[in-house]
Amino acid sequence: MASSMTEDPLRMLFVLPPSSEHGEPVLPSHHPIMTASLAAVARKEGAQVNVIDAALLGLSPKELSKKIKMWRPDWIGFLPYEYRREFSEQSSSLTVAELRSLGWNGEAGLLNSALNALPPRRAVEKKAFDFACFGDSEPAVAAFARRCEEPSAGVIWQRRGYLEENPEQPEVEWEDLPTPAWDLFKWRSYQPTAHRYRRLPTLPVFASRSCPYGCDFCPQSLFNPSHKHQTRSVEAILRELKELIDWYGIRDVEFYDPTFGVRRSQALELCQRLIEKNWDLTWSAYTRCDLVDEELIQNMKAAGCHTLLFGVESGDEEVLERTGKELRHADIEKAFNLCKKHGLRTIASFILGLPKESEESLQKTLDLAKKIDPTYAQFHLARAFFEHEEWKEHGTVAEHWEVTSASVNGQAYCPTGLTERQLQRWLIRSYVGFYIRPQKLISLMKTLHSTEDILRVFRGVRQVSNHLSPLILNSKSRV
Ligand code: SF4
Repeated sequence: MASSMTEDPLRMLFVLPPSSEHGEPVLPSHHPIMTASLAAVARKEGAQVNVIDAALLGLSPKELSKKIKMWRPDWIGFLPYEYRREFSEQSSSLTVAELRSLGWNGEAGLLNSALNALPPRRAVEKKAFDFACFGDSEPAVAAFARRCEEPSAGVIWQRRGYLEENPEQPEVEWEDLPTPAWDLFKWRSYQPTAHRYRRLPTLPVFASRSCPYGCDFCPQSLFNPSHKHQTRSVEAILRELKELIDWYGIRDVEFYDPTFGVRRSQALELCQRLIEKNWDLTWSAYTRCDLVDEELIQNMKAAGCHTLLFGVESGDEEVLERTGKELRHADIEKAFNLCKKHGLRTIASFILGLPKESEESLQKTLDLAKKIDPTYAQFHLARAFFEHEEWKEHGTVAEHWEVTSASVNGQAYCPTGLTERQLQRWLIRSYVGFYIRPQKLISLMKTLHSTEDILRVFRGVRQVSNHLSPLILNSKSRV
């Protein structure tokens, strides 16, 4: 790739766009690690870098564009898909239009778009943006920072009056990635979901990227093909952890891998090295029930792991099997029993309203939740996955829900045979049925050992009520 002879570093701004055209503030459920990683890559390449999280600040596109103008960036990368990936590109394109009307003439586009997604492509064709990057955008950001003059892999752009595209899928050298640039954020303002951390301050870390499984309700497949799963070396993970401890004083880490421990030997080695290091560090991770065994769980516990989140998804084996999750109920029960035996807290995540769901299968899900009795259970309504033909055959998009609260990743789905109202009731019924039981409340009380624990529980109750209140209000208004 050719690059220009310009010496001045590019002024690159990474923007988490407004939540909507009105700019309501959002309380993100995680730290924006994708954005922090891209910002670190740009800085490593010599760019001057800044970050604005308009969603967190509650800025409208108009307010955001004024703020951007003051920093005078040459280049802006928007990340509408960082927070639960349901923001549309609209608030970003409104911001760019506003900036243009103020006389700004830099380059602006979308980062980390879903692979093959049409809306970002159309937006570039219509010149709402100068570029869009598909898939992991670290290589594209590095190329922009070096002022490369040909589109890097996964990039479509408008330049010199032409639309140019490099259709290759980006390859990321995960080993060489710098530690995410958390210093550019008010990183303590982010509130991870309460049950996923034990102590503050906390930050997320990747031990691997992508996921080799093909569950058809999971957004991973939209952003990364399954064959791209890669684990980082234990040395690289330890280096990042040490930097987070030394630079930010973190005491807790959330391994943000879609599936931690796919390569068992890496997970075991990481645990053993953490045991040797004996840092004052606790952690949590997301994994699958069929990836853990007694030896691994013992090592995780000894290495500081406090909580494992498992995707259980459905209590109905037929509903579960159709998703391609390839998980047996025997493995689910075994994993939760092992965690209990070795004192690890657990979170079971369930999805309500998958294709072929019925009132009977929803009851089975609630029954399974009570049977395996995780420390915490979380219930989500299914996102409409019309990327898969089979979903169209078995249901429709739910029309009346406030999408952000109703669904994990986009528009809520209504399977054939169930009404939206029934699903809303089941979501509320599942939370109430799981948590409002004397033995559950007593066991939760026993997990409270400090003021920090009590504050965390209050935060958790607030997060669950934020999750449910739009549905309760919605169902009342439609009675
Ligand atoms: S195992 Fe988990 S992360 Fe991987 S595809 Fe399935 S649901 Fe997604």
